[in-house]
Amino acid sequence: KAKVSSKGNAARFEPHLEEAYFARLVQEQEFVDALDRQEITVAYQPIADLMTGQVLCVEALARWYHPQRGAISPAIFVETAERGGLIDRLGEVVLRRACMDAIQWPETVQINVNLSPKQLISGRFPALLASILQETRLPPSRLGIEITENVFIDFAEDAIRQLLTISNCGVKIILDDFGTGYSSLSYLRMIEVDGLKIDASFLRQLPDRKVEAIIRTVTRLTADLNIYLVAEGIERPEQLEWLRENGVQFGQGFLLGRPRLDPQLGRIDLRSSIPS
Ligand code: C2E
Ligand code: MG
Ligand code: MG
Ligand code: MG
Repeated sequence: KAKVSSKGNAARFEPHLEEAYFARLVQEQEFVDALDRQEITVAYQPIADLMTGQVLCVEALARWYHPQRGAISPAIFVETAERGGLIDRLGEVVLRRACMDAIQWPETVQINVNLSPKQLISGRFPALLASILQETRLPPSRLGIEITENVFIDFAEDAIRQLLTISNCGVKIILDDFGTGYSSLSYLRMIEVDGLKIDASFLRQLPDRKVEAIIRTVTRLTADLNIYLVAEGIERPEQLEWLRENGVQFGQGFLLGRPRLDPQLGRIDLRSSIPS
C-alpha cells in the first residue's frame, strides 16, 4: 500500500489497489473539480435479445476520465457524489448526455439511465427529468430509469411515491440488481415496472442447482407480468447457452458488448455478431 501512495503510478497497473486508493482519497472537492472540468462522461452498453441479437436498449454508464489516473469506476465516485451532495449534478450530466445521444438513434432503441436512490428520494428528479425531456425532445417512452431494488430497503414509501411520479411522465422504470435486496416481490404490486435486471451475481454462480431454479422462477414471473427480464453480466458462452435454453430473452455483458465511449452505440447491430 505504501507504494500506491508514493505517486499513484504503481496503482495504475493494479486495478484493485487503485480502487482502494480512491476509496480513501477521492474527496468531494476533487469530484466538484471533475464536474467543473467536464471530466464526467458516459459509456454505453447494449442490452440485446439473446436469440436474435436485436438491440432492445442501451445502458448509459457514468465514467470519470481523470487526467492522471484514467478511468475511475462509478462504484467509487457515485458514493463520493452522494456524500458531497453532488448526486444531482452527476445525474444531470449523465441524463442530458444520454438523452442528447439517444435522440440520434433508431426509434426502436431505448436508453436506460441509472438513478441513485438518494437522487430519487430528494424529490428533485421529476423536475429535472421534465426539463431535460423538453430540452432534448426525446420521447419519454424511449427513456428507462434503472433503480436498484435495494432502494426499497431504506426508503420504501418515498421511493414508491417518487417512482409513481416518474412513471406518470411516461418514462419506463426498470428494477436493477434484482435479487440482491429483500422481499422486492411485494413492490411489484405497487408500481408499474417495465423490466427487471437479474443481478450479475446469479449468473456468476452458474452452473448451480439453486441459482438455476431462481433464474427460471424469475423468468416465469416476468413472463406472467408481461415485463422484460435482462440477465446482467454475461461473460461466457456457457452462460449465454444456458440462458437461451431456459427462455431468458434479454441480456447484457462483456460477451455481447463492453461499455464503450461511443455516442453512436445505439446504432450498432448485434444481429450478425452475437455468438450462435
Ligand atoms: P449497474 O447499473 O448494475 O451496471 C452494470 C455494471 O456492470 C456496470 O459497471 C457495467 O460496466 C458492468 N458490466 C456489464 N457487463 C459486465 C460483464 O459482463 N462483466 C462484468 N464483470 N461487469 C459487467 P460500472 O459501469 O462500473 O457501474 C457500476 C454501477 O455504478 C452501476 O451498476 C450503477 O449502479 C452505478 N452507476 C453507473 N452509472 C451511473 C450513473 O450515471 N448514475 C448513478 N447514480 N449510478 C451509476
Ligand atoms: Mg444499471
Ligand atoms: Mg445492474
Ligand atoms: Mg448490478
